[in-house]
Amino acid sequence: MPEPQEAQMDEGEVETFAFQAEIAQLMSLIINTFYSNKEIFLRELISNSSDALDKIRYESLTDPSKLDGNKDMQIRIVPDKENKTLVIEDSGIGMTKADLVNNLGTIAKSGTKAFMEALQAGADISMIGQFGVGFYSAYLVAERVVVESKHNDDEQYIWESSAGGSFTIKTSNDPTLGRGTRITLYMKEDQVEYLEERRVKEIVKKHSQFIGYPIKLMVEKERDKEVSDDEEEEKKEDEEKKDDEEESEDKPKVEDLDEDEDEDKSKDKKKKKKIKEKYTEDEELNKTKPLWTRNADDITQEEYAEFYKSLTNDWEDHLAVKHFSVEGQLEFRALLFLPKRAPFDMFENKKKKNNIKLYVRRVFIMDNCEDLIPEYLNFVRGVVDSEDLPLNISREMLQQSKILKVIRKNLVKKCMELFDDIMEDKDNFKKFYEQFSKNLKLGIHEDSTNRRKLSDLLRYYTSQSGDEVTSLKEYVSRMKENQKSIYYITGESKDSVQNSAFVERVKKRGFEVIYMTDPIDEYCVQQLKEYDGKTLVCVTKEGLELPEDEEEKKKLEEAKAQFEGLCKVMKEILDKKVEKVVVSNRLVTSPCCIVTSQYGWSANMERIMKAQALRDTSTMGYMAAKKHLEINPDHPIVKTLKEKADADKNDKAVKDLCMLLFETSLLASGFSLEDPTSHANRIHRMIKLGLGIDEDDIPTEATAESATDEMPPLEGDEDDASRMEEVD
Ligand code: ADP
Ligand code: MG
Repeated sequence: MPEPQEAQMDEGEVETFAFQAEIAQLMSLIINTFYSNKEIFLRELISNSSDALDKIRYESLTDPSKLDGNKDMQIRIVPDKENKTLVIEDSGIGMTKADLVNNLGTIAKSGTKAFMEALQAGADISMIGQFGVGFYSAYLVAERVVVESKHNDDEQYIWESSAGGSFTIKTSNDPTLGRGTRITLYMKEDQVEYLEERRVKEIVKKHSQFIGYPIKLMVEKERDKEVSDDEEEEKKEDEEKKDDEEESEDKPKVEDLDEDEDEDKSKDKKKKKKIKEKYTEDEELNKTKPLWTRNADDITQEEYAEFYKSLTNDWEDHLAVKHFSVEGQLEFRALLFLPKRAPFDMFENKKKKNNIKLYVRRVFIMDNCEDLIPEYLNFVRGVVDSEDLPLNISREMLQQSKILKVIRKNLVKKCMELFDDIMEDKDNFKKFYEQFSKNLKLGIHEDSTNRRKLSDLLRYYTSQSGDEVTSLKEYVSRMKENQKSIYYITGESKDSVQNSAFVERVKKRGFEVIYMTDPIDEYCVQQLKEYDGKTLVCVTKEGLELPEDEEEKKKLEEAKAQFEGLCKVMKEILDKKVEKVVVSNRLVTSPCCIVTSQYGWSANMERIMKAQALRDTSTMGYMAAKKHLEINPDHPIVKTLKEKADADKNDKAVKDLCMLLFETSLLASGFSLEDPTSHANRIHRMIKLGLGIDEDDIPTEATAESATDEMPPLEGDEDDASRMEEVD
C-alpha cells in the first residue's frame, strides 16, 4: 500500500491518497466528457456487488462461519430524494483498508489506459465495464462518492472522493455493516432522475435483471389504516410537532381522509377513522429464474441478449448462442455465447484464463476455472451449471475431476457446433472470422482432436480467389487433375506474397497458391500438414515438386549438368551464407531465389522470430532458416554470369555480382539483410558504373568486401520440426 500523501493531522485517522495518474485522468475524462447514457453507472455498481457476493458465497462453501458477520445475500438500493443520495449496498465480501486503497485508486489496471485510448478512438463510455474500471462510472452521476466497506479480515473503513486527484480513507464511527459494502452517491444537481423509483426499476430491468442475487429497491408506499379518533388526534398533534422532520423507514405518516364520511359510521362506537399511511418497503426487482434453467423454447432472443450483456458487461448483443443440457451419467446445463468482438486484452496476459462461469446446482463457484475450456476458446462466454460436482469443490479437486473433463469435452464439442452454425450465415461468419481467426488457428495448433473440424473454418486469399477469401474445401474442389498437393506461401502481406518469385511458376503451371499472411499461420500450418488427404506444400521450401512431364524433367537434368560449375563457384563465394546452390525449375522471370529446408523456418518465420526474440538474439543463429540459393537456368543474368565464371572463376566482378544476386534474392524472398550497408555499397558501385563515373571514385574492393566478410555466418545445423514447438 502506498504511503499516504499528507495525513490531515487534526482528524488523526483521515488519510489522503493521490489517485494513480492514469486513474485521475480517466476520472476527469468521465466527469468532463459530454455523454448522455449515464444510466450504466448502476449496472456497473450492481455488477461489482454481485461479484463481491459471489466471492463471499464461494468462501462460505468451505467455511460457513465466513457469513457470520452478515447473513444476507443481497443488493439493496436506497434512493433519498431529500438528501439527493443513492445508496447501493451489498453483503458481499467487502474490502479491507488495503483493498480500498489499491482497488479504488492507486493501482491502475491495463484497462485504464486501454479504455481511454478506446474512448479517443470513438468508443462509448458504456463499454467501461469491459475494461475493468466500471467503478469510476459512478462519477458520471455523482459529484462525491463514499464507499464504506467491511471485510471479515479488517475493520470497517470509509473511502471518499470528490475526484480532483485524491481520495481519503478513515475508520468508520458507525461500524454497522457487519460485512459488505455500502456505496453512497451524492448525485449531481442534474442527475436526480436516478432517485426516481420508476427510473431505477427501468434501469435494473434493462441491465441487471439476470443478476443472481436479489436486488431490492427501497420504495415508498401508502396504505389505509383504521385508527380511532383520539388516536388520530394524537397522531396529528405528533405530526405537527415533528413538522419537517425526516421520515424514516416504517414510520407511518398520517394524513386526513374524508373525515365527514367516516364520522357518521363511527359515531356511536369508538370513533374510528381511515387514514393513509406512508411507509417504505423493499421490493425485489429481479425475480427471473436463472436463464439457463429455463426451457430453451420459452426464451426469446432478447432475453438471451440481455442475459449475455449482464453476464459479460458487453454493450452489444452476442453473435451466436448455444443453450443445451447433458443428461445421463452426468448432468449439466450450459449456455455458450460467441461475442461480436474480441476483448481488448484477449492475448495480453493469462490472468483470466477463460470466460465460462461455473455453477454447481445454481450456486456460483468460479469464473476462472482453467480446465473448463481450452485456452484457444477463451473468447467463448457463458455459464455451466453442474448437478454432480460437490459444492465445496476446490480448485485442486477440480483439476483432478473426471466430471470436469467430461464437461470440457462437451463444451468443446458444442463450440464446434456453434462455429458450424455460424458458418451457414456468410455475413456473420465473416464478422466472426475477422475477430477470432487467431483463436481458430491456435486451436488447430493445439487441439489435434478437432483439428480437422477447425481446418474447415479457415479462410484465405489465394492466387485465384480475387477479393474473396476461400476455404480449403473450395481450394480442393478446384484442384487440377494431376495436382496432389495444396500449395501455400507464408509472408507478411498479400501484396508481398502474390508478386513473389515463388508463386510465379506454380501459378504459371495453373496451380492455385494459398496466401498465408497472419504470423500465426506459420504455427498453424506446421500442425495442419494436410487437408482432405492432400499434403500442404510450402512453395518457398526446398524440394518443391510440381507435377511435370518427361520433357521438362529432361530439360532440368540437362540444365543441372550445364550449370554445375557455376553452382560450385557461387557456393564457394557465398560460403556459409547458404547451404547449397542449385538449379531450379520454379523460377520464371527472376534470376534466383532463396528457399529454405523442408523442416526449418521459412523466411516469414525467421521474420516473426526476429521480431519476437529481440531481446535474445543468441538463439537466432542456429534456429535461423537454412537457406538454399536456387538459380534460374533460363535467365539471361544467370546465363551471362555462367559465361563469365567459366572464363575466370576468380573474376572479381563475378564475386561481386554473385553477392549482389544473393542479397537481392534474400530481400525478394522475404528475408532481411544482416548487413544492409555493404549491400548498399555494392548497389552504389553499380549505379556509378551505370552512370559512367570513374573507377577511382568507387570505394575499393577491400573495404566493401571486409564489411561482408564480417557478416556473422548463419548456421542452421539443428533445425527440425520439433524445434518449432519449443519456440511457440
Ligand atoms: P472490475 O469490477 O472489473 O474489477 P471495477 O472498477 O468495477 O472493476 O472495480 C474495481 C475493484 O474494486 C473490483 O475488482 C473489486 O475488487 C473492488 N470493488 C468494487 N466494488 C466492490 C464491492 N461492492 N464489494 C467489494 N469489492 C468491490
Ligand atoms: Mg466492475
